Amino acid sequence: MRVSKLSFIAIVFFLSHNLFGQEKVRIGLFANKELQELEFLIDQGSAVLQSDTKSVILSQGTKITFKNNGAMVSAHADTIHFNSKKISLQAANIETVFQIQFSAKTRKLKYGEQLEFRVVNNKLEIVNIMPLDTYIAGVVEAEGGPNHELEYYKSQAVISRTYLLSQFYKHIDDGYNLCDQTHCQAFNGLPKHEHIMTNAAEQTKSLVIVDENANLITSAFHSNCGGRTNSSEYVWTRALPYCRETVDTFCIKMPNSNWEKRIPVNDWKNYLAKKRLSSSDSANYAYFPGEKEVYYREGETRVPVIDMRKDLKLKSTYFSAYQEGEEMVLVGQGFGHGVGLCQEGAIRQAQLGVNFEDIIHFYYYNVKIIPYQYIAFFKFE
Ligand SMILES: [Zn+2]
Ligand SMILES: [Zn+2]
Repeated sequence: MRVSKLSFIAIVFFLSHNLFGQEKVRIGLFANKELQELEFLIDQGSAVLQSDTKSVILSQGTKITFKNNGAMVSAHADTIHFNSKKISLQAANIETVFQIQFSAKTRKLKYGEQLEFRVVNNKLEIVNIMPLDTYIAGVVEAEGGPNHELEYYKSQAVISRTYLLSQFYKHIDDGYNLCDQTHCQAFNGLPKHEHIMTNAAEQTKSLVIVDENANLITSAFHSNCGGRTNSSEYVWTRALPYCRETVDTFCIKMPNSNWEKRIPVNDWKNYLAKKRLSSSDSANYAYFPGEKEVYYREGETRVPVIDMRKDLKLKSTYFSAYQEGEEMVLVGQGFGHGVGLCQEGAIRQAQLGVNFEDIIHFYYYNVKIIPYQYIAFFKFE
């Protein structure tokens, strides 16, 4: 029996719709910490504390302590004591906000919707379960920074949603989709500038970036490209057809467009020697590549500048160097790997009135911005 193309599209559409159709995401919180105990405050509204066997409503101002109690997790609040394999704290009103502060010096973090607590590998695991766009709004602020234009935040929202859906099962063995660390996407809970971040997520609802084969793209971005973005293969080995070198004049007068780092001349000499770059008669250690170079060259020897960036902890690979007394002065442009969207270029474009679609098309070559529910349709079209 032959399955018609149309019904095949319908099946794939149904699957992809169901996969994400619930529109809830599970985000692992504080994934970089080995937590044994922590305290949440019900900062606004009321909440339901629930285990497998019982539940109780807690009012605003209640503090709840969660602890690793062997294989179980325990929760204490006033006279209440829960001990269970899994405990959840769920918002009972639309305005409910949970707050946590790890120390007097760190900022208060706020979370909404539902928190789930378990003990995994002898430490507390906390998962925040929330609507997809609540998560996107939080990521847009954490990754995009405060006080910019809406169209810039909208470009960040589409990028973050593309990343989320392309990596939807990254932490599935841990019991969640993504964690809150930068190796996934930074997420510090509910955004402080809630109105604009929520607008950015809602006004781009469902939109993701796909390549010409309708695959979600690797939506790389960085702080400042220094005037020219990098093709992906200069930084990683993989050539992504949509991450091509692009001249970007929008970012050249922005906060991260220039940097300077001073290194003792001896450290610089030793570093070059280690990399077999210094010839014995070299009296001058200056380096002026002119154009953006992939390698630092000296005679027949060459070292990838991405290695130098890592070794010397430089803000970018785009730099020149000269000697001044006992110091080498490294003068560079840009901040970050330079692949994909340049945030400060995008910020500037948004200030000049460019919309988020045009910003995305400027930094990613030959892509489409479509609702993720239509991916299957475009694939088999
Ligand atoms: Zn992660
Ligand atoms: Zn740039």
